[in-house]
Amino acid sequence: MKKILSAVLAVAMLCTCVLMFTACGGNNSSAASSDTETKELHMATNAAFEPYEYKEGGEVVGIDADIAGAICKKLGYKLVIDDMDFDAIITAVTSGKADFGMAGMTITDERKQSVDFTDPYTNAVQVIIVNEKDSPVASADDLKGKSIGVQMGTTGDIYVTDIEDAKVERFNKGADAVLALTQGKVDAVVIDNQPAKAFVAQNPGTKILDDPFENEEYAICLKKGSELTEQFNKALKELKDDGTIDTIIKKYISE
Ligand code: GLN
Repeated sequence: MKKILSAVLAVAMLCTCVLMFTACGGNNSSAASSDTETKELHMATNAAFEPYEYKEGGEVVGIDADIAGAICKKLGYKLVIDDMDFDAIITAVTSGKADFGMAGMTITDERKQSVDFTDPYTNAVQVIIVNEKDSPVASADDLKGKSIGVQMGTTGDIYVTDIEDAKVERFNKGADAVLALTQGKVDAVVIDNQPAKAFVAQNPGTKILDDPFENEEYAICLKKGSELTEQFNKALKELKDDGTIDTIIKKYISE
């Protein structure tokens, strides 16, 4: 009887061990993702847009890099960031060179014709940067007939192109537009509010006008019909709900 009992016990213990091992193996993230870890998702961005994406020690960091990292981690992909001019991002996505674009990119109807957008992950506003001293521009109305620096292909570019008699100077980087402002080559720069703060901090003698220009929403763009869009939206929602997005934004924007 004793022998039978211990044999049963031994078998029961063995089963428990096998079960535990299987369960642990199944939950172990490295084991579970070992086949997906090699799968990469390429993010097209323009790393000259602090605090959303910028370079620190050769690495692209910022709100977008962190959010993209969190999404990829959730979905079991390795994130690879490809830096390029802003106006090359949509083409990179539509041609399949990149899996998605994330670059403080505003949802616009025009862009929606070529790419799909996820749900928005944050809001932004276009602002006007001017020189502190003797600026001919004190409000958005004053932009008429002035020379205005913008980053090429951005919503700032689109808005000022509609301004009466404005002379639009297009630059590859927002920083170059602000440099032109400090050199008196343009009267104002129209750009997104958070990068504007970074540029003004780096260029004493410049300031942001109180007059906000245009409200926008940022989202991630993907190839039209991409099945990733739904997965990204699900991951984004979870990251919003559990506070991750807020924490990431607060890490880079202190207010
Ligand atoms: N939000 C602006 C746009 O989508 C600017 C983005 C950027 O310069 N990275 O056009």
